[in-house]
Amino acid sequence: MGRLVMKFGGTSVADIDRIRNVARHVEREVKAGHEVAVVVSAMSGTTDRLVGWCREAAPIHDAREYDAVVASGETVTAGLLAITLQEMGIPARSWAGWQVPIRTDGVHGSARIQEIDGTEIRKRMEQGQVAVIAGFQGIGPDKRITTLGRGGSDTSAVAIAAALEARCDIYTDVDGVYTTDPRIVSKAQKVDRVSYEEMLEMASLGAKVLQTRSVELAMVYRVPLQVRSSFEAPDSPNQNRPDGTGPGTLVCDEEDIVEQQVVTGIAYTKDEAKVSIRKVKDQPGVSAAIFGPLAEADISVDMIVQNVSMDGTTANITFTVARKDLKKTIDVLDAIKARLGIHEVTHSADVAKVSVVGIGMRSHAGVAARMFKALAEKSINIQAITTSEIKTSVLIDEAYTELAVRALHTAYGLDKA
Ligand code: ADP
Ligand code: ASP
Ligand code: MG
Repeated sequence: MGRLVMKFGGTSVADIDRIRNVARHVEREVKAGHEVAVVVSAMSGTTDRLVGWCREAAPIHDAREYDAVVASGETVTAGLLAITLQEMGIPARSWAGWQVPIRTDGVHGSARIQEIDGTEIRKRMEQGQVAVIAGFQGIGPDKRITTLGRGGSDTSAVAIAAALEARCDIYTDVDGVYTTDPRIVSKAQKVDRVSYEEMLEMASLGAKVLQTRSVELAMVYRVPLQVRSSFEAPDSPNQNRPDGTGPGTLVCDEEDIVEQQVVTGIAYTKDEAKVSIRKVKDQPGVSAAIFGPLAEADISVDMIVQNVSMDGTTANITFTVARKDLKKTIDVLDAIKARLGIHEVTHSADVAKVSVVGIGMRSHAGVAARMFKALAEKSINIQAITTSEIKTSVLIDEAYTELAVRALHTAYGLDKA
């Protein structure tokens, strides 16, 4: 039956009863003949609590100690699931990231996995032992514990699946990938298949069902990836289809999708902030003089809009950065303001980016126009626009996020009947 990595998120392991439910999912796959590795998240709410304690101890703190603290949530769940499996008569042991080892770079708080040595785990799995691995954590070059950024257990799971040449099933609190966040649009529909490219855009544009990096890894290493529900009864006959797919959503190659939609999904994020610079000289080199220092300060700029004044001598530039970088951005601009003759810098964090995603956009005209019309009909003003081959994003007032997502969902014919 082959090797299988099963990943369970925070809500799926929220208490001992739910951990028992997870153990029954694992039991089903073991009985079906799979060699199983399980990747677990911290019990829901735990990581937020641990992060809160670090901030309470010191608002500015050592990132290495932050990682030591927040990684502990996953370590606890791994041990608890191993105990539960053993209690059910299934051989199992827990693994912390450093024990595997999962080697990462040294960027504490958002480390990237560099290498996984799966030798020992593979050996134990062949002997019939379930490996229960703490997600989200690894070991850095200086032998300190690292974490992979929020939502990082998805990435742990896909990376382990790549190292073990296994399939990867992501079990979560929804039964698959939807046309948009089912928690804000009740008419959202589950999609049976989504391409790696679309899922990558959806994730990076805010659909937190999978961490962006996990989709990137799955795409590069061609890991067969499924998103499915941990709340569906473990013994339901619906669990595994004859073709090996589950009842959730398969993230796969574009070629494996028969019925292609023009727009597959709508995503949104409230993680960005808008900065506007008024009346800078409209001459060569000005953008370089503004965005160069921002890049040097490690600030990524996302959307950029420039408009020129009536007499053509000055320009206004609006751009977005991650909300967490807003203060740093303003500090950088304050430092260069006088030299560039910038009149005024304003900023706002009350913005949201709403995006439509679909590979069908490559071959269909008018997708963006339909987006603008749907927003206009709801009197929602567009503050900035960016496009790529398979997505169009707009920046709007945060207060209208849900309204915009619902209107677009309807406009592209995605509403469930
Ligand atoms: P886990 O704790 O299992 O990792 P997450 O909370 O990280 O779960 O991700 C699952 C959540 O992602 C869902 O509860 C849902 O609200 C949200 N979500 C956002 N966009 C989508 C989407 N397009 N399809 C499915 N879920 C989505
Ligand atoms: N527990 C971590 C978080 O809450 C990692 C994860 O759940 O994927 O972000
Ligand atoms: Mg998650």
